[in-house]
Amino acid sequence: MAELDLRELHTTEFPVPDEIQGNVAITSLSKIYNWSRRSSIFPLLFGLACCAIEMIATAASRYDLSRFGMEVMRASPRQSDLMIVSGTVTKKMVVPIVRLYNQMPEPKYVLAMGACASGGGPFKEGYNVVSGIDMYLPVDVYVPGCPPTPQALLHGLIALQKKIDGQSLANLDDVPWYGVGPAEPTPIPILGPDIIDPRQMDLIRRQAELAALGKPYGVREIPAAALKPVAPALAPKAKPAISAPAAAVADDPEKAARLAKRDAALARKRGTESGTDAPTEAAPTALDLAEAAVAAASAEQPANGGKKKFDKQAMLEQIRQRRSQKG
Ligand code: SF4
Repeated sequence: MAELDLRELHTTEFPVPDEIQGNVAITSLSKIYNWSRRSSIFPLLFGLACCAIEMIATAASRYDLSRFGMEVMRASPRQSDLMIVSGTVTKKMVVPIVRLYNQMPEPKYVLAMGACASGGGPFKEGYNVVSGIDMYLPVDVYVPGCPPTPQALLHGLIALQKKIDGQSLANLDDVPWYGVGPAEPTPIPILGPDIIDPRQMDLIRRQAELAALGKPYGVREIPAAALKPVAPALAPKAKPAISAPAAAVADDPEKAARLAKRDAALARKRGTESGTDAPTEAAPTALDLAEAAVAAASAEQPANGGKKKFDKQAMLEQIRQRRSQKG
């Protein structure tokens, strides 16, 4: 920890003569209390993903967290007052994270390190990732980056120190843990097919009841103002008698004229083709041939149920003929 410099504690309200400034400090209780708190923050020792590597580097000798009195990372939430959420927060992991936060004593702070912890990062809207830890915990400082450098994390920690410096024991809005009675614990999310926030439990229960009754649920109602202009537009479509093109033609005389012209051209084309084309002559011939073939086949068929009777003599005669043809 840095050497104590009493000038840090001076208040401008009660100026101290220059010659005794190193030995005497006139200050407020809030200031000395905040100074001691912000110079001995104990972060909770845990990491979630790649950002944790940068957090480890920040604590190592090159960047040296002990300058801020933060080098004692505690392995127990009971002895920590800062949670550095360093990495991707999965839906599975958010449950123990909130539980650990609840186990930390007041006053406590949360620092979201990196894009993932701040808002989901590259995995935002992923099936298993929470879009920011601030949906579940009150975050005091966000450190952007993917991953943030150790310098960025140090900057975030200094920002947190400044925030603590600005708090006052006299203002309960600043330090809610001095309010009357114990603070409400943050609801621990419930891990299911999708993560459930217990703060929404009433709504979830109501929707489950509707679902059990087979009624529609979770359907957003369209505002009446949005429906009004749509209603007259839907009315003509509901008429079954007139098809859409016919209705369009009825509405548009120019289009009707164009369609009539096209029909006339098609009729002329068909007429020309039927006048010159040879297959029209061949068609009856083919039809005649087909009819003849059918007639022959039906003539060959015996009358008894369509089943041809086996004639041994005829078959032997056919075989003989074929042999004689072959020579
Ligand atoms: Fe990894 Fe980037 Fe997410 Fe940090 S912000 S955990 S570096 S993906």
